[in-house]
Amino acid sequence: MSRRVRGTGPALVLARAPYGESSLVVRVLTARHGPQRLLARGAHRAKSAFAWTLDLFDELDLRWSAPEHGGLGNLEAGTVRARRRRIPADLGRYRAALCGLELADLVARPGEEEGPLYASLSTLLDALQADELAAPVDGLLAAFEARLLEDLGLMPALEECAVCGGAAPADQPSERRSGPRAPFSAGAGGRLCRTCALEARKAGRRVGTLAARDLEALRHAGAGTPPMDPARALAAHEIAARFLDYHLDTLPRTHQRFASSPRP
Ligand SMILES: [Zn+2]
Repeated sequence: MSRRVRGTGPALVLARAPYGESSLVVRVLTARHGPQRLLARGAHRAKSAFAWTLDLFDELDLRWSAPEHGGLGNLEAGTVRARRRRIPADLGRYRAALCGLELADLVARPGEEEGPLYASLSTLLDALQADELAAPVDGLLAAFEARLLEDLGLMPALEECAVCGGAAPADQPSERRSGPRAPFSAGAGGRLCRTCALEARKAGRRVGTLAARDLEALRHAGAGTPPMDPARALAAHEIAARFLDYHLDTLPRTHQRFASSPRP
């Protein structure tokens, strides 16, 4: 039998699935040991040690053992450090929180510590639990996504040209209220100057345009100042979400409302 390793510490449930008649398999993100898949025996029994402790969004303290080289572990003990009851009670907060969990689940690498990811997710959930939201939920999500992009080394160029590093003016004509637009290509790394946009098109890349205001909103979100205006917040979230989808090469369920156009 392969050696087992034990772990303890803070954790967040990313997803839960029933297992047998009374058990659960949970995917959790731990603060110090990255993602783990754990079997919680008897979690659905009222007398179980885990009854009421494995809810989404709550900050937990878990103890588990797992095969040394990965695979399904055993949850041995769990307590709730902090409940976040306001999130499931409000549809907007709930959806945003689910989107955060789903993204974390997609990018968390088994065997890696993933401390920054844990901190970012915990920060998002705290923000969504606040009495008064500090910004629209889409803005809070945009801030989370921008941190994720930074940590993954995928943050798109939002000011200068992604290819040549030169000025990338927003000089594309626009009839829309969101104002002047700049060329943008997920495949080319973000915002582009006019010359590099032409080159990218010639090379067969899909190049669109994005409102300079929206790119700036995402930049501010990444710097810790989520947009307060709901339209800017949604736009910043949409840019970050599409960029993540492009680079993760998958479409999270919670992002499918942005999937109206063909993938680049
Ligand atoms: Zn350029």
